[in-house]
Amino acid sequence: MKVNAIIEAIDMWAEKEPDREVYREPNQVYTYSQLVYRANQLAHFFDENLTTDRPIVVFGELEFDMLVAFLAASKSGRAYIPIETTTPQERIDLILSVARPEMVVTIGDWQESQADVKRVDVQQLHTIYQMPIERWQNVTRSDEDTYYIIFTSGTTGVPKGVQISHSNLLSFVNWELSDFGLKTGMTYLAQAPYSFDLSVMGLYPALTSGGCLVPLKKAVVNDFKQLFQVLPTLPINVWVSTPSFVNICLMEPHFDQSHLSGLSHFLFCGEELPKKTAQALLSRFPHAKVFNTYGPTEATVAISRVEITEQLLHAYPRVPIGYIKEDTVVTIMEDDQVRQAGQLGEIVISGPSVSKGYLNNPEKTATAFVTIDGRPAYRTGDRGQLTEDGLLLYEGRLDFQIKFHGYRMELEEIDHHLSESPWVKEAVVVPKYKENKVEQLIAYVVPADNTFEKEYQLSKAIKTSVSQRLMSYMIPQKMIYVPHLPQTANGKIDRKSLIHEVNPS
Ligand code: AMP
Repeated sequence: MKVNAIIEAIDMWAEKEPDREVYREPNQVYTYSQLVYRANQLAHFFDENLTTDRPIVVFGELEFDMLVAFLAASKSGRAYIPIETTTPQERIDLILSVARPEMVVTIGDWQESQADVKRVDVQQLHTIYQMPIERWQNVTRSDEDTYYIIFTSGTTGVPKGVQISHSNLLSFVNWELSDFGLKTGMTYLAQAPYSFDLSVMGLYPALTSGGCLVPLKKAVVNDFKQLFQVLPTLPINVWVSTPSFVNICLMEPHFDQSHLSGLSHFLFCGEELPKKTAQALLSRFPHAKVFNTYGPTEATVAISRVEITEQLLHAYPRVPIGYIKEDTVVTIMEDDQVRQAGQLGEIVISGPSVSKGYLNNPEKTATAFVTIDGRPAYRTGDRGQLTEDGLLLYEGRLDFQIKFHGYRMELEEIDHHLSESPWVKEAVVVPKYKENKVEQLIAYVVPADNTFEKEYQLSKAIKTSVSQRLMSYMIPQKMIYVPHLPQTANGKIDRKSLIHEVNPS
């Protein structure tokens, strides 16, 4: 199965098999022809009403119309930026100020923002779907044009917009469709928000191969009773999630092969896959293939994969992150020197799925994106090594970017926002680990003068004051109050000593 162009591949399914299912919600099923029909209507509307090729923000959760809007943006020759509904307003405003979109399509509830931007809401969308138009012709773009932009956490509190081009996306999609034993017409779980690039692992491989997505929405995921009821009935073949999410699902004993007999593939990405999770999956789903994959948003979802077997788990202390995809080169670097097999260093990725850089942010682009032997490359900030036979092993982050429940975040960004609270003079956040996974975020805080009688009242006030700026999962669960923060010999905050304090062994 080889895809030459994403949009055309999806159109082809709508033309060839219009009634083929593409999105299966609990009470409604949508077909390829509905997807493409709506997308053409909306693309036509963009074409008539927009005057620039600046990106389009698509705001919502896992609704079918999100897909319509993504496809419509692509069909009209524009990049799109997915933003999920639980994003705090200040963060949305920051994204809007970096990205300067011409329009936002608001499928979820939208609070009016200060940005001067045109808007289409869900009611208007449904009117647009009814409007008479002539036959729509997709706008052709070059392979290097941006397909989507996904915003990730930045060190200075300003999120970075990773630009993924058509050719970046094609390199990823063709690898997934060829190297994992996937077939046409499979049904994929859609659980990760579209603003997290893990979602792309289901989305485009499914849509270009005539597959169907089954969304599992936040309301269900956040309510374990509902989640555990739905899980054993999910009509899926391909599971895509972070290891953290599947760990929750493994709490439900009926989440096994006898209930999910069609489930043949597990694809994990985004954070370390714990051995215990991998082992539990092998015994609960003896007929399924379980893959660990690895990669940053900047290299389009994932660049390596390995199928988990008992032998593999026995052979390595941590679950390996895989063999590199054929069109890509991983170089292990230390102090600008290339390291040999078996030596540790930073994982640097070069190949056709590496992004052109961060939107409107040349400084951050210049720091993270480099060239190796004339090829553009991305410095991941991850520590790892390659074995003699080309298997990539992960050894943790070089810097202070962490993963917590599958979400990527920079500790410095949280520090930054905490320090802006009126109740805080200075703050530094450290992760508490259990079995190589972040279990809790702890903030060391030098408090500002205040009249609270109890520490918990102060902690509550601090958490409330940052809740407009930080995603809820980025707000530290625990605050430790100190008169001052420790410093290194160079007079910098000594986060490492606090990390050791919190993680003594
Ligand atoms: P994101 O850009 O949100 O996908 O985050 C990318 C980062 O997640 C990588 O640079 C790694 O630090 C981490 N990561 C992704 N996949 C894995 C994996 N399979 N094992 C360990 N860490 C991973």
